[in-house]
Amino acid sequence: MKLLKKDLNKEFKIVEIFRTVEGEGSWVGLPVVFIRLEGCNLRCPWCDTTYSYDGKSFKILDLDQILNEIKKYNIKRVCITGGEPFFTENLDILVNFLLENKYTVFIETNGTLFNENIDYNNKNLYIVCSPKPPSYFINPNLASYISEFKFVIDDFITLQNIKEVIKFNKNIILQPQSNLPDKVKKAIDLQDKLLSFGIESRVIPQCHKVLGLP
Ligand code: SF4
Repeated sequence: MKLLKKDLNKEFKIVEIFRTVEGEGSWVGLPVVFIRLEGCNLRCPWCDTTYSYDGKSFKILDLDQILNEIKKYNIKRVCITGGEPFFTENLDILVNFLLENKYTVFIETNGTLFNENIDYNNKNLYIVCSPKPPSYFINPNLASYISEFKFVIDDFITLQNIKEVIKFNKNIILQPQSNLPDKVKKAIDLQDKLLSFGIESRVIPQCHKVLGLP
């Protein structure tokens, strides 16, 4: 009964939909349409998308309106971001709808929340998790579905924070905060330390910012 009620809810708080190139992680450089959902359960000190949870920067769109928006770009790759996508209670309806319409779907998440109704086994679904300080908590229900971990290298992060996730997935990205020189240095240092444990990682900047893209 609960699921049926939820299935009737096909409207979403959309902050923005736009075409860019993927600027982070291992899909960097590929064309992608971003769907930014409203709301986040965290308040990270260096957050650069505070407008995504200010409670006033969104419009309500239903599934067909969202599809019409993304179809304009003729790109079959969509990234659902936020805010925190899993903060949207009916996220499963949007994700499964896009998968059914033959889109490759990335979800960018802080990893703290979970939605049990998403089609996690769909080969076109890719979940990128960026664990956040101070706890770097990852929801145990979500952990095994995460395709890639992306760590912002800031003042807080330690080698131990990164090593905690290796039991779930060894696909590790180190992303220096705001491309700052001291954070690049720290990222290289962490990369060396991970290597000493036999763990490969990649240092990748926020390329969309280097390119001046949203
Ligand atoms: S989880 Fe992401 S959107 Fe939420 S406050 Fe942190 S950086 Fe911002």
